[in-house]
Amino acid sequence: MPDATFARPDLDKFCRLDELGLRVVGQHLKPDRAVLACRVERPDRWCRRCGAEAAARDTVTRRLAHEPLGWRPTMLVVTIRRYRCAGCGHVWRQDTTLAAEPRARLSRRALRWALEAIVVQHLTIARVAEALAVSWNTANDAVLAEGKRVLISDPRRFDGVAVIGVDEHVWRHTRRGDKYVTVIIDLTAVRAGTGPARLLDMVEGRSKQAFKTWLAGREQAWRDSVEIVAMDGFTGFKTAAAEELPDAVTVMDPFHVVRLAGDALDRCRRRVQQDIHGRRGRTHDPLYSARRTLHTGAGLLTGKQNDRLAALFADDAHVEVEATWCIYQRMIAAYREPDRRRGRKRMARLIDSVSHGVPAELTEVITLGRTLNKRAGDVLAYFDRPGTSNVWASYCAFRWY
Ligand SMILES: [Zn+2]
Repeated sequence: MPDATFARPDLDKFCRLDELGLRVVGQHLKPDRAVLACRVERPDRWCRRCGAEAAARDTVTRRLAHEPLGWRPTMLVVTIRRYRCAGCGHVWRQDTTLAAEPRARLSRRALRWALEAIVVQHLTIARVAEALAVSWNTANDAVLAEGKRVLISDPRRFDGVAVIGVDEHVWRHTRRGDKYVTVIIDLTAVRAGTGPARLLDMVEGRSKQAFKTWLAGREQAWRDSVEIVAMDGFTGFKTAAAEELPDAVTVMDPFHVVRLAGDALDRCRRRVQQDIHGRRGRTHDPLYSARRTLHTGAGLLTGKQNDRLAALFADDAHVEVEATWCIYQRMIAAYREPDRRRGRKRMARLIDSVSHGVPAELTEVITLGRTLNKRAGDVLAYFDRPGTSNVWASYCAFRWY
């Protein structure tokens, strides 16, 4: 940024405390936690009952979880003045509604961060709770309430929707299995290049029925106006869309297609690791230490990473990992191809080559090929309709209001 003008460093602005009506007056930094001492910016000394000016009587403190800065949990300890009216005796506290909902444990910035982390970045509630240093239940209740509040605040959110994305999120890992929530996003503006994705709704569960019921609950005119449904690999969503929106085109999201190939690569790496060493990977095992490098797009590798992969693949015992890695890289290359038609051709050739004649040892590639073959139409549809990428597009362009 050669033209950047630098302003004076300002912790209030940096931590976005100014948006909350707070002013930082102290910091206490620990490796695992940052605590910011804050005061409420606006005085609040006019009596709400009789209008007389009051004197500050004492202070109380309120603790709020803030957005984690650099993934370090950041807590706000807010000192709040209490006033007592000399005229009528009324007692009140400084107004903190800008900073948080009444009785909330999370600041408004923390809520926004948590909602985006879950819906856009696919973090689990558990991970969000950890980053905010609050309990699972606190994070869960706050995020659900905020999701509803954001949605209810925009009753016109269904107007003019032509492209939707549907996506499942793990809401909670339980001993009896994972709990899911289905998130429906409006991608119309993303596709037109005019704006960000918007959250349309959140529904409990991830069954075909959950999405089908939701679609069936919309007006016929709205359903007729939906042209494209972008989705992940879950076939239930595909069936629901086909039944309720028969004229809409279904598109499988690049993010999820790449994740299928990435998962195949991980499973193959772990299997080969187990075959060679008879145990799970450890820090100094070459397959284990290369696990992140394997997921990096070939064009983005540093010299050192290239050398590491060359050494890894020079070992004949790793040939199956190399073969699976090649499939993964070909997929990334197809999506990165600037010419959409060429990208489509590369993807079609890739799907064809993993759909039959794959050596029996490459079990992960065979499974991947079966899925890609079954969903080939939806995978390739992306190349005819750029801009429908559900998650990739929203990474950089998500807004809630
Ligand atoms: Zn008064």
